[in-house]
Amino acid sequence: MLYNVAQLLRGPTGAERRYGVSEEIRDLDPDLDPISPLTGSIKLMRTSQGVLVTGRLRTAMQMTCHRCLEPMVGEVELELEEEFHSLGHFGEASLDEILEEDDEALLIDEHHQLDLTEVVRQGLWLAAPMEALCRPDCAGLCPRCGGNRNLGECLCDEAPVDPRWAALQTLLSDESKSQERSD
Ligand SMILES: [Zn+2]
Ligand SMILES: [Zn+2]
Repeated sequence: MLYNVAQLLRGPTGAERRYGVSEEIRDLDPDLDPISPLTGSIKLMRTSQGVLVTGRLRTAMQMTCHRCLEPMVGEVELELEEEFHSLGHFGEASLDEILEEDDEALLIDEHHQLDLTEVVRQGLWLAAPMEALCRPDCAGLCPRCGGNRNLGECLCDEAPVDPRWAALQTLLSDESKSQERSD
């Protein structure tokens, strides 16, 4: 996800460029499992310090429902707003000094290439839902038998009532009957 910003950096502050994005991101991160390309649009704007990238990107990822643990596909939308700094704008400062105050991922290299890869990778981690649900009313797994309640695997509700409860229920109903009689 490289953008050459040489021309933009020569332009006045506030100058803009817009790009449509359609990137294959399967190899972006071994722990993310995108199943569709990253699409959307971004805007690159020249600032006094470098280039401000804003935009909205989306993809779909394979994930796991956190209630029923079944595989599912989730939409992920990524809002970008990052300012990249150009090495040329630091004058005499050494690279070490620059890196002390600036994230390396946000540096425009000496060939005026702005690389969005790392920003997008981190952004997808933040944008991916921590508690994804296969559907809003996912019934989840039964804590007693572990069956998937969406699939009707759990029969716990129909399981026989605990015999101690049964005895108590009989007692209570006998009591109410005797009360009815005395009224
Ligand atoms: Zn689920
Ligand atoms: Zn159950």
